[in-house]
Amino acid sequence: LNKADRLTVDCRLDRFRSAASSAGVKLTHQRLEIFREVASSLEHPDAEAVFRAVRRRVPTVSIDTVYRTLWMLNDLGLVTTLGPRRESVRFDANLDRHHHYICVRCGLARDFDSAELDALGVPAAVQAMGRVITTQVEVRGICSRCAAAKNRTLKRNPRAGSRAATPR
Ligand SMILES: [Zn+2]
Ligand SMILES: [Zn+2]
Repeated sequence: LNKADRLTVDCRLDRFRSAASSAGVKLTHQRLEIFREVASSLEHPDAEAVFRAVRRRVPTVSIDTVYRTLWMLNDLGLVTTLGPRRESVRFDANLDRHHHYICVRCGLARDFDSAELDALGVPAAVQAMGRVITTQVEVRGICSRCAAAKNRTLKRNPRAGSRAATPR
């Protein structure tokens, strides 16, 4: 469910191999495994998550190598990033034009396509700020899983939802 299909992953791996060879980047086992992890994930993982997953297959990998490799992949144009830089940056191997749904509670990030959003015009005020490369829409919300968990909590403890009585 949370994995990209095999064909997509193979296609991304091919792109990685040819980009690495034309950039003169050595294709080490660790780099390949790090890229494979991002390429097969639908989670838009951050470096920590990539590290945890790769470490299961490659116990000698270090968090440092993961960071350096992810930014190298970014420089090669093989992944993009999302989220503000000051928080933990997440990596995305889907280079096709797409938008994101982000759950503000659990951090879930899912891709979706929309011809309507692709066609959104950028206001002149933005163009005055600088050259526009892409426009990507981030829809924020509370995912159905988090919403269901909250409903379960409310049933067990109905007062848990009475935020109005105790404003923060
Ligand atoms: Zn959620
Ligand atoms: Zn994405």
